[in-house]
Amino acid sequence: MNEKGTLYLCATPIGNLEDITLRALRILREVDLIAAEDTRQTIKLLNHFEINKPLTSYYEHNKVEKGKYIVEQLLQGKDIALVSDAGTPGISDPGEDLVKLCIQNGITVSALPGPVAAITGLILSGLSTGRFCFEGFLAVNKRNRREHLEAIKNDTRTLIFYEAPHKLTNTLKDMLQILGNRNIAIARELTKKFEEVIRCTIEEAIQKFEQNMPKGEFVLIIEGANKQQVEEEKQREWAEISIYDHINMYISQGIDRKEALKKVAKDRGLSKREVYALQLENKEA
Ligand code: SAM
Repeated sequence: MNEKGTLYLCATPIGNLEDITLRALRILREVDLIAAEDTRQTIKLLNHFEINKPLTSYYEHNKVEKGKYIVEQLLQGKDIALVSDAGTPGISDPGEDLVKLCIQNGITVSALPGPVAAITGLILSGLSTGRFCFEGFLAVNKRNRREHLEAIKNDTRTLIFYEAPHKLTNTLKDMLQILGNRNIAIARELTKKFEEVIRCTIEEAIQKFEQNMPKGEFVLIIEGANKQQVEEEKQREWAEISIYDHINMYISQGIDRKEALKKVAKDRGLSKREVYALQLENKEA
């Protein structure tokens, strides 16, 4: 029986072709097949480096049937490189599904690290890089997009998004409404000729793009929520409900009374003893 092949997750440049790694070039030359998210884009890359290898497409709309084909080839002993449109496969592209499928089939997966637009934008942003959260693309549907933003509005980590130019202004408007007028870095056309990083507030960014239509590829990096403001906001919200209702809110979520009292104490910055006493008063009131 043949030994199984290896799937190589091969990062490619996000603009500047000089960002390809020596290892990526060697593996692209050595594998039996290259699975590419956008074969036209990958052909340009391969031609530039004079690599002549069979290509197959692997993208969102053929990933189920093509995933099976790729796994069959790997099980027969072929080595395959997966490349995305640009950057690192598995980041905002279907690479993640192929990795899962390979792991389920006992196939070795090896990563060749390289450019990622999100990290490139983050390190240029001038915002905190110690703790960050990659949020990928927001939904096209307005309601889903806003729900996504609502869910992360209290996150104190730096937030990173990918966005298409035609959706940028509307996304910024939703961000302004839901996240508030925070500092933002808009990283455009990274590593390319017209690379630009606009560092301003969300409001200023909206004004800018209402005057000049956004063009190119964008990463948005937004400062996290202010910890103190989040805390104050929460306290204001808790002050609107009684201790008794607050405890019952947790109990209705299936949490036992003892744990609910603990949570309420933490939420309100009180001791458990104080919560206990207040809840009795509340009940009697
Ligand atoms: N796998 C890629 C990676 O590692 O970054 C991301 C793929 S995702 C389908 C494409 C999105 O990444 C673009 O819409 C844009 O938001 C961002 N992006 C890719 N290249 C970029 C660049 N050179 N400058 C700014 N953003 C870029």
